[in-house]
Amino acid sequence: MDQLLQFTDRGIYCEAGDFYIDPWKPVNRAVITHAHSDHAYRGHNLYLAHPKSVPVLKYRLGGDIQVQSMDYMESLSHNGVAISLHPAGHIVGSSQVRVEYQGEVWVASGDYKTQDDGLSTPYEPVKCNAFISESTFGLPIFQWRSQQSIFDQLHQWWRKNQDEGTASVILCYALGKAQRILSGIDTSIGPVFAHGAIANINDLMISAGEPLPEVLRITA
Ligand SMILES: [Zn+2]
Repeated sequence: MDQLLQFTDRGIYCEAGDFYIDPWKPVNRAVITHAHSDHAYRGHNLYLAHPKSVPVLKYRLGGDIQVQSMDYMESLSHNGVAISLHPAGHIVGSSQVRVEYQGEVWVASGDYKTQDDGLSTPYEPVKCNAFISESTFGLPIFQWRSQQSIFDQLHQWWRKNQDEGTASVILCYALGKAQRILSGIDTSIGPVFAHGAIANINDLMISAGEPLPEVLRITA
């Protein structure tokens, strides 16, 4: 048999199950690891994703997409291939995709991080025969400090700016990093404002029950 998952010009493909993982060209069945735009593209007939990815997928790709949701550890069988999603710890709803066929298990990680950010469901390693790993920052030169030390430094900087009468501005991606920062900063230090692109995602997540602080939407 060919490899259970293979790379094609549309994305990672499972021939036995006839579905793709995070395809970048239109396909019939797409399993989506998370809602970042380099993983979730428009134009697929059917989407499968974690329930926490669905509101953002609909917001970004259109409310009329056909999307089926599946919780972590649930399993779905398609053409004899068992598909399940497992926490990737990257952003809220991000998933590794586990595929099992005739006793062989492959896992495609999607984007993942092993440090618990306090908001995303923490990454869980999944036993498998083959692991397809994203590794954007996989080189050993990337050594991450603990999240707490980053927040300590950020709070120190924020207070110093306050003392000097200067506003503090943090630039970050609207889905993922923004919510990670908002969920970790000490909002008792001062008022927090968010660009509309961030506030829109926050609203979706707060409606879905994520513990994000209320921030002021910048309107002009
Ligand atoms: Zn991502």
